[in-house]
Amino acid sequence: MSSDRAGRRPFVAGNWKMHLVRREADALCRKLRDGAKALGSVLPEIAVFPSFPLLGTAVEALAASGIGVGGQDLRAEEWGAFTGDVSGRQLVDAGASWVLCGHSERRQLHGETDELVASKAVAAARVGLRPVVCVGESREQRRAGETFAVLDRQLAPLDALPGLLLAYEPVWAIGSGETATPEVAQVAHAHLRRRWGERFGSAALTLRILYGGSVTPENSTGLAAMPDVDGALVGGASLDPGRFLAIISSFAALARPSEELP
Ligand code: PEP
Repeated sequence: MSSDRAGRRPFVAGNWKMHLVRREADALCRKLRDGAKALGSVLPEIAVFPSFPLLGTAVEALAASGIGVGGQDLRAEEWGAFTGDVSGRQLVDAGASWVLCGHSERRQLHGETDELVASKAVAAARVGLRPVVCVGESREQRRAGETFAVLDRQLAPLDALPGLLLAYEPVWAIGSGETATPEVAQVAHAHLRRRWGERFGSAALTLRILYGGSVTPENSTGLAAMPDVDGALVGGASLDPGRFLAIISSFAALARPSEELP
């Protein structure tokens, strides 16, 4: 499967997890908005993923900035008696354009299965949200040589939905400060693209695959140089506007002049 980047605009996403309150979220968004503008016109696609109570704050602060906002999860059903859950319709109504599906913290802490994650991606696409589906192996699985088998199992129930992105997030690299080397990330990304191509043909050429797991300004340039790394899903470093903007800059070199912020 060719790794030609044509048609794959780089994408840098910030997962805020369960951090910040409205005042802090507003200040972070304003710094991001102004900082991204100062970086110039050729930028990767950018989005932040706040927790649900902060969505409105982020949407308002980033209005007309070209920086998108996404939810961190959704329930597959559109409405109903599901206390504590949020539907895709509600995310859209709050101004979100994206949603994370199957982040490893959801898989680990909430027991989300591959099938449930796939059903969430379908529900997201149905209401026009673009799902960012997270996949990745644990340290034990990598040590046991099961990385590809795990990725294959996680991919199996997924469909080539409109707008779907993958995020390869090896669990051992999330929040650990131990990022995958660019070469390790590239091998996994190339595997994901190859498998996508076996099932969906040329759709694999335009499938964007982000890397996530302790991405920092210190390692993002090396990751961005890999032909199948189309962007980054950033946790900790996305809470610091200077560091997040530096990561955005690493991927800006891959964006083309037509890909401009307003
Ligand atoms: C994440 O939350 O998806 C993530 C990759 O976190 P961190 O960058 O902090 O490892």
